[in-house]
Amino acid sequence: MTRSPVVFRIPMRTRFRGQTVREGVLLHGPSGWGEFSPFPEYGPRECARWLACAREAAFEGWPEPVRDRVPVNATVPAVDPGHAHDIVRRSGCGTAKVKVAERGQTFDDDVARVEAVRDALGPSGKLRVDVNGAWTVDEAVRRLKLLDRFDLEYAEQPCATLDELAAVRRACDVPIAADESIRRAEDPLRVRAAEAADIAVIKVQPLGGVRNALRVVEACGLPTVVSSAVETSVGLAAGVALAAALPELPYACGLGTMSLLTGDVVADSLVPVGGELDVRRPPVSFDHLSAFEIESPQWFRRMQEASL
Ligand SMILES: [Mg+2]
Repeated sequence: MTRSPVVFRIPMRTRFRGQTVREGVLLHGPSGWGEFSPFPEYGPRECARWLACAREAAFEGWPEPVRDRVPVNATVPAVDPGHAHDIVRRSGCGTAKVKVAERGQTFDDDVARVEAVRDALGPSGKLRVDVNGAWTVDEAVRRLKLLDRFDLEYAEQPCATLDELAAVRRACDVPIAADESIRRAEDPLRVRAAEAADIAVIKVQPLGGVRNALRVVEACGLPTVVSSAVETSVGLAAGVALAAALPELPYACGLGTMSLLTGDVVADSLVPVGGELDVRRPPVSFDHLSAFEIESPQWFRRMQEASL
């Protein structure tokens, strides 16, 4: 018998957005399983979009894919160069995203990490950096020019605001991607209007599901990188469905994030092989889920408030 909805809590391997666990609700319907896992700080209005994504997965299903594999990037946290080199070599991915500007570290640490990753990728690999909005315009322009000797594919969110991103974009040749600047369905259009980025990083839950995200991407017109919100394989499958349905997919996606969690709710997780994810939808395994299931009236309340 299928029980639904079910609340899960899975510890993460490293702290992410100040969190050490990932929680959410799994919903079952005629089309399969959906995941509702908004971050703790999000209120009912924002959560409504995340819930729409879970409901689409459970009750509607997704548009037909136009490809059966999705390339993904390896993610390199703010670790030492030797560890960074290992992560990239072991990932099998031809694209790596390197976190820079970590609090407590210096720019020299960033340079050493990026250099190690370029070495691990070889000259034909794609290397992008993610600044998470931490630099001023001047820092971003100066530092991206320095890092570009390792041949950057693009820089993700070098500064916090749209105006700052636009200023960096005017002053340097490294393409700019907007990530934190895109949290709602209307944001990609604002990014485009402000000429703040060359690339839009899109997550399917905050945009209200695969169909909605496809419409947003089309209206925005910027090339898109589909990324996860660090979901279980149930939530990741929705991101994979979006990446699989996009007419163009010029960049490796940020969907290889299962390794950030210490477990999963399916038996056959969506993990990349040879730098690619298969376009598929693994079912929830109650054997696996049971290790992470929790009682949480609070999550049911959150879901109810998001439906009002
Ligand atoms: Mg990012």
